[in-house]
Amino acid sequence: MKLRVIGCYGGYPAKGVGTSSYLLTAGDYHLLIDCGSGDLLSLEKYFDPLKLNAVVLSHYHWDHIADVGVLQYYWQLHTEGRQESVLPIYGNSADPLNLGSLTWPNSTKGEGYNGNSKLNLGPLTITFKRTIHPVPAYAMRIEDNHTKHVLVYTADSNYFEGLAKFAQNADLLVTDTNYYANKNSVEPRWHMTSSECGKLAKQSNCKKLLLSHLPQYGDLKQLITEARKTAGSKPRIGLAHVGKVVEI
Ligand SMILES: [Zn+2]
Ligand SMILES: [Zn+2]
Repeated sequence: MKLRVIGCYGGYPAKGVGTSSYLLTAGDYHLLIDCGSGDLLSLEKYFDPLKLNAVVLSHYHWDHIADVGVLQYYWQLHTEGRQESVLPIYGNSADPLNLGSLTWPNSTKGEGYNGNSKLNLGPLTITFKRTIHPVPAYAMRIEDNHTKHVLVYTADSNYFEGLAKFAQNADLLVTDTNYYANKNSVEPRWHMTSSECGKLAKQSNCKKLLLSHLPQYGDLKQLITEARKTAGSKPRIGLAHVGKVVEI
């Protein structure tokens, strides 16, 4: 599998960089994971949006779904060249109103999932884990059926031990790294700090850690230094930036 970062800020876009979105490619299958603010413009630079096979959304906060509406219009206005006759968009069924908005006549079709779901999408198998967040949000464990390689995406969440179990032995762990380590003592929190992401990487025994859902301030390299202190020496640690490709 190959993961390309389409947008990587948490909360809001800044300096030309959009919020959470990732394009996952396995063979000739293309899955867009989240589609936040500024992400359709970014996606168009790297990939034809009509060639998507599916979209999966972690939760219905704007920094993860703001550009879903315009992606639906894109499909509505292009009836030729679609990879699928109708684009499936998977969203959690805990919020039926938002799930309903994913269906757009002859363009996109909303499909619900919950914490017990197992989706088989092309060569991928996806399972979910509800996270700690103010609205229903789900981490995803995505396995390539051919290579058996695993991507785990935490979506938005505070740290909890169950997340480390869910992410066990991931080849790539992509984390919600919304805060520097100096926020460790601030509770309640709905996102992780750099050092919690490092701890999660260590506990899950992942091979690579990609820090994403980043703050718009400070020296982002500091997030890597802070994560390294709790991650130990094993995992490779990278920082998300738009266009970055990580082999899984
Ligand atoms: Zn977010
Ligand atoms: Zn959120």
